[in-house]
Amino acid sequence: MRCPKCGCQDDKVIDSRASREGATIRRRRQCIACGYRYTTYEEVERAGLAVLKRDDRREEFSKDKLLSGIKKACQKRPISPKVIEDLVEKIVNTITDKYEREVPAEVIGKLVMDGLREVEEVAYVRLEDLADIEGFDAEVAAELQERARSSLERRDRRYEERRQELGVSNELASLERLTPGMLVALGENKITTLDDFAGLAGDELVELLAGSDKVGVNLELEEANALIMRARAHWYADEAVEPTRSEQE
Ligand SMILES: [Zn+2]
Repeated sequence: MRCPKCGCQDDKVIDSRASREGATIRRRRQCIACGYRYTTYEEVERAGLAVLKRDDRREEFSKDKLLSGIKKACQKRPISPKVIEDLVEKIVNTITDKYEREVPAEVIGKLVMDGLREVEEVAYVRLEDLADIEGFDAEVAAELQERARSSLERRDRRYEERRQELGVSNELASLERLTPGMLVALGENKITTLDDFAGLAGDELVELLAGSDKVGVNLELEEANALIMRARAHWYADEAVEPTRSEQE
């Protein structure tokens, strides 16, 4: 330490004590040259990452805020919590890899939109729910969303035509949660009717879809099982209906 009085750089510590529950160490020092006594404080550098906003203000980066914002925006979408958590994890890793102490807000906003595009949700999320996320630029986002929407619509129209060429039934297509891309993948694997689908095992379905380049985000095994159960429902429903029919005859 440089002595505040004479500028000499030699000193000795004559007393050290922790203050504020150990967060700071206060040291009394004495200059070797002139004997002047002074105090220094020492504290651990905070490991937290700051977000640098456009107006030059800084705010602590919050992973929770990122997660809850994206969850809220995807609330009405058929996207599993696991996919969202993975997405947030990836964003946080990218940020902490590249930025040590502060990250520009717009970088976060861009990573959020890129991530949502990857999981094919950018066209559908509620942008107003993302507004709380640091650096989220509503205008840029709206433009991105519009572009994503029209390109997805074009793609889905192509998939829809292909589905019909492949003879995948409307009944199967109306099963909630199957995307146009998934229906094409099913058709290409000769799964064309609700009964074909109902005959699949959950892991079989997951594997089949994972092998297709038409499927962006695959089903979780749990979702796959639930869908297959729903497809099987009509088997039991038919059984239940039959006795009523014969009574009428
Ligand atoms: Zn001194």
